[in-house]
Parts: sequence; C-alpha cells; structure tokens
Amino acid sequence: MSAPRLTGRTTWIAAAGLWLIILAAGSAAIIIFLRHEAGQLSREVTARCLSTVDALNQTLLRTLEAVQRVHALQQLQRDLEGRGEAQAARAISDHLTNMPLEEPSAGILQIAATDASGSLVFSSVPGWAPLFLGDRQHVRVHAGRAPQLYVSEPLVGRISGRWSLQLTYPLRDTEGRFGGVSIVSLDALLLSRRLAEISTAEGALSALMRLQDGALLARNRDAEAQLARPALTDHPAIRAARESPRGSFRAPSALDGRELLFCFRTVPEAELLVAAAEDWGVVSQSFVALRQGAWWSFALILLLLAGGIIALLRGIGLRATRRLLADAQAERAATASAWARLEQLLEAAPAAIYAGRLDEAGFRAEFASPNLRRVIGWPPEVFLDPVQAQRRMDSSAPAARADFQRRLQEEGRALMEYRWHRPDGSWRWLREEARRAGPDIVGYLLDVTEQRETAAWAAASARLNMLGELAANMAHELNQPLAVISLAAENAAAALDEDGPAGIPDARETLDLVAQQAARCKEVVQHLRLFSSPDERQSLADVRLETVVQGAMLLVRGALRDAGITLHNRLPAGLPPIRANAVGAEQVFVNLFLNARDALAGLPRDSRREIWITAAVEATDGRLVVRFADSGGGIPPELLGRVFEPFFTTKGSDKGTGLGLAICQSAMRGFGGDIRVRNGASGAEFTLDFPLAAPEPDA
Ligand code: ADP
Repeated sequence: MSAPRLTGRTTWIAAAGLWLIILAAGSAAIIIFLRHEAGQLSREVTARCLSTVDALNQTLLRTLEAVQRVHALQQLQRDLEGRGEAQAARAISDHLTNMPLEEPSAGILQIAATDASGSLVFSSVPGWAPLFLGDRQHVRVHAGRAPQLYVSEPLVGRISGRWSLQLTYPLRDTEGRFGGVSIVSLDALLLSRRLAEISTAEGALSALMRLQDGALLARNRDAEAQLARPALTDHPAIRAARESPRGSFRAPSALDGRELLFCFRTVPEAELLVAAAEDWGVVSQSFVALRQGAWWSFALILLLLAGGIIALLRGIGLRATRRLLADAQAERAATASAWARLEQLLEAAPAAIYAGRLDEAGFRAEFASPNLRRVIGWPPEVFLDPVQAQRRMDSSAPAARADFQRRLQEEGRALMEYRWHRPDGSWRWLREEARRAGPDIVGYLLDVTEQRETAAWAAASARLNMLGELAANMAHELNQPLAVISLAAENAAAALDEDGPAGIPDARETLDLVAQQAARCKEVVQHLRLFSSPDERQSLADVRLETVVQGAMLLVRGALRDAGITLHNRLPAGLPPIRANAVGAEQVFVNLFLNARDALAGLPRDSRREIWITAAVEATDGRLVVRFADSGGGIPPELLGRVFEPFFTTKGSDKGTGLGLAICQSAMRGFGGDIRVRNGASGAEFTLDFPLAAPEPDA
C-alpha cells in the first residue's frame, strides 16, 4: 500500500504553518536575546555609574574631612585665645594661614573666621583687611542654630575672584555661646576637575549638588558656565534622593533631552548629593548596533524563508496544475469512452430514445439515440420532424398523436401505438411512450409488431381454446334436444305408420315438439356463432347486464351442471344499462365462469360448489359494480397480484393458456371499466366495474 499523498492544499497549509512557527520562534529568540543583552548592558552601565558615584563620594568625603579639620583648628584657636594662650593660638593661626598653600590638593582657597557680629577676624589671605561678612548667607545662617556644616552655593570670591564654595561652621566662645563662624572657601572649579578626573567614561557627567535645593556646586564639564545656573530644584536626582540614599534611574536630560542613566548618593552629614550620569545613547551604541544586526539577520531569514516558500508553492502549484491537467485529460478520455459505450448500448437497445421540449409551438427534438434509424427505418429527422413523421403514420395516427401530445402536456405522460410505413413499403406497429419532466420530454419508440402479432395470436388461441371448450359444451347442450327431436320424429313416424290418417294429430303434436327443440338448438348455435364472430367485439353500445349474464350462461350452463355447481344469480331487477360491448362482456363472464368451474372442480367430492353473482350501482361515481364470487377456495395470496398477467396460469400448459383474465382486464379497460380480484369468504371474488350508459334524453 502506498503512503497517502499530500494534496497541494495540505502541503501549502503545512508549509505556511512551519513558516509561522519558524517566524515566531525566530522573533522570540531574537527578542529574548535582545532583552538579555539590554538587561546585561543596563546592569553593567549602572554598576559602573554607581561605582563612579562612590568614588566621587570618597573624594568629597576627603575634602570634607579637611574642611572639618580646619573648623576644629579654628575652634581650638578660639579656645586657646579665650584661655589666654596667645602663643599657641597664634601658632594655629599661622598654620591655618599656610594651610591653603601647603595642601593645595584640598582646593582650599581661603580660611577665614568672623566674630559673633559677622566681622572678619581672621583670613589666610595675606594682607587681609577687616570686613563685615554678617550679611552673607553662609555667615548669617549660623546665628542661633545648632552647630552644623553649611555649604553655600558657588560664589565668585570677593578677595580671590574665583568660583568658590563657602563651607562654614559656627564657633563657640569660652562660655559655649555663638562666637563667630569658621569659613573655608573651596575652589569650585578644582572640585569640578576632581569630578572630571573620576568620571572618565565617554559622555559621562558628574555633579555635586546641595540636597535641599539642588544648587549645583561642582560639575565635571562646563563647570564655569554651569555653576552660574540657578539651582536645579526639580532635578530628577534630587527627587530620587528623597526616596532613597543611593540608586540609579534613566531619564531625559533637563538640558538637551538626551536619555541619561543617572546614579546618585547622598552625603547626609553635609546635606549634599553626588550624582553621575552616562549618556545612554553613547553607552548603548554597541547594543543598538547589535540590535540592528539581529533585526537585519532576522529580516534576512524572513526573506530566505519567503523565497523558499514561494519556490515551494510554485513547485506545488506546478505539480498541482500538471496533476489537474492529467486528471482532466483522464476524465475526458473516461467521458468519451463512457459516451462511446453508451452509444454502443443505445445502438443495441430494442427501443430508441429521444428527448426534446414541448411548448405551444409543438415538440422540438434535441436528442435521438443512434438506434432510432433501425427502429423507424428512416433517417432520424423523418421521425423528429412532425410533418414528415405524420406522412409515415397510418391515417388515424395524426389525430391520436395530437391527443398524445395533449395528454403529455396535461398528465405528464402518454402512450400510443400506431402503424408506421417503412421505406420498404411494409407497415410496422410502433409503441411510443413519453414523460414530461418540467419543459423536457423524454420518450422511447419501440417496434411492437411481433408483440402485437403474438398477442393477437395468443388471444385468438385463447378464444379458440374457449371455443373448443364451448363447442364441447354445445355438443353436450345440443345432445338433449337432438335426442328429443330424434325420439319425437320416431314417435310421429310410428303414429302415422300405425294409425294412418288418424295418427296425424298425434304426429302433428309431436312435430311441434320437434320444431320447438330445433328452435332451441338454433338459438344456441346462433349465439355461439355470434360469440365467435370477431366483428362483434369492436363497438361499444348500451347493454343490459342481465342479457350479458344470460348469454354467458347459455354457453356454460352445461359445463356448470356437469360439474355439479349451483349458480346464485342475484342480479337485482331493473339495473340500469351499462356501456360495453355485449359479446366482449359475455366473454368476460364466460371466462369467470370457466375459471370458477375449474377451481370448484378441484374441490373434494362432497364439497359445496357454488357461484354467486351480485350487482349494485355505486352511487358515488355512477358505476355498476358486479361481484362474482365462488366457493373454490380462492387464489394463494402470493399469486393474487399476478393472475392478470398474460400467460400466467397454474393449470399446466395442456389445460390453461394464462390469457383468460388478461383478456378480461383488457376488455374491461376497453369499456372504460376495470376488474379486480381478492379472496372472499370461501373463494375468489372478482369485482367488475362497468361504466353506466349515458342516461336517455327526456322524450
Ligand atoms: P387460465 O385459466 O388459462 O389459467 P386465467 O388468466 O383465466 O388463465 O387465470 C389465471 C390463473 O388465475 C389461473 O391459472 C388460476 O390459478 C387463477 N384463477 C383464476 N380464477 C380463479 C378462481 N375463480 N379461483 C381460483 N383461482 C383462479
């Protein structure tokens, strides 16, 4: 067994399905890969950014430590002064004065101090002059406040003329009261450079901001320009720092909208924020290239797949087309061979078939089987053309044909038989039967000449058979009157011989009896002659049923009597006349009588042998219905449907012809009536249906 072949359609569906699966799997793989790569990159950049922030924080803390140290020394110097240890105090002042120069890496521009009123009392700047700084925010802020470091926004120093941050701390007097402010000016640009040294990544930004208001204190790039900007109160890093002391996030740049990765860390002791940012566009360049590469390769895969599928489909299409073509050719060959075979069969068929349409204009043929010529003897068009066809029919056929077409139109089917003149001069009987299916007519034409001859012969033989039987009956029937005649003639002769003229009256009386019996014989013979005359079977007339039954009885009386059969003739008086052929109807009854006689003769010796004839007018449809029943035991139920078939007999070929009931049925239908059979109480029961004669017109 070969494996089932895929059809073009299923292959296509399978290919499309496979294509979709590959597409989906490819997309999923690329998306997963890109997500993984993006996550990896994000993690790497964030880690780097956070470590930058931590490094910045360390630098800042170191600077703040230096500042704290300065403040602590200033406080110590105050304390020493307060305790009168002027020398020690001066040593500290000297140290502080030298400190900016000795530790340039700390970025300290100036160390200064004010008294409680805000007037400058010390400065590391040589040649400093007393100055009132009480109006400065970084000085003012400490009055009455807890000791705490304060970082000012970037200012351009009055003395140094450089961008500086003032980191101030309150000083206490010996009683612990507010005694002034220690000021450390840090070089904001140097701090910014420190940031730049740490934030080395391409496009990286780093900044130091005041936590409370976002004032920018240092920046790795464009420091000078950026420090002059107002505080970035709403900077995203400031907002984020309110939530968490350390973290990272991505957000667009406030300056130019570039996407940045921000990392931050708060410095709580100074209320500062260290922030670093990397340009996401720059750091993700490699990833973008990777992503583009991935999508391009995916597009390439798609293209290759699409190309493959197109090629596959074209292949399938070509194969399917070729197969279709081959199938169509095979189908055409099969149709041609089936048509040839059909023509061959039609040619051999006994009946010719035709088809066409019937409308007001008449019949138009559309098809005729090839054997039509054989059936009609002429080319097909002679039959298909109504004018030509009528010329070949016998004289009564055209009228019958018009009726045929009318019945076809009205009843949907019609049958007729007519004589047809063939080119060799012979006449043939044709049977034509047609049916209507919508506007279409389909009919057949069959030469039934032989059939009709056989039927006629069979009918004649059946009649002969019956006549033979009747003749035997007649002989029997005539025997009695002839015996009477013979005896009477002998008696008359004896009377004349013995008595001479005196015997004449006796002889005369006896001769009357002879004449009477001879008349009876004549009646029987005449009836038989009438019965056997074919001319008497043609025409329909108004007939009395009683006469018909009497006539039949005349012919079968002897046979019934010999068989010991009692006839119950219960025809009511005054039955209306029927429309029939008297001899034909009589023949029907003769057949029924003889069949009943045969059935009854087969009964056991002491059985009752009876026949009943009754009749009644069916009020509904004005018919005379006659019932003819016998006590012969009936017909086996399985044969009931067959007894009217021609040549069906159960009597054996020497006794029965099987035509009796077939002739009865044909005669009854010829009258416009019918005959049916069923099994009655004790035997077969035939029902004969005669149409009534037309009522006589009122005189
Ligand atoms: P035939 O008498 O030559 O057989 P018929 O056509 O008259 O032919 O009858 C056909 C058959 O019907 C008979 O052979 C018989 O079997 C059956 N048949 C007819 N009439 C009767 C009847 N009255 N009772 C029983 N069978 C009958």
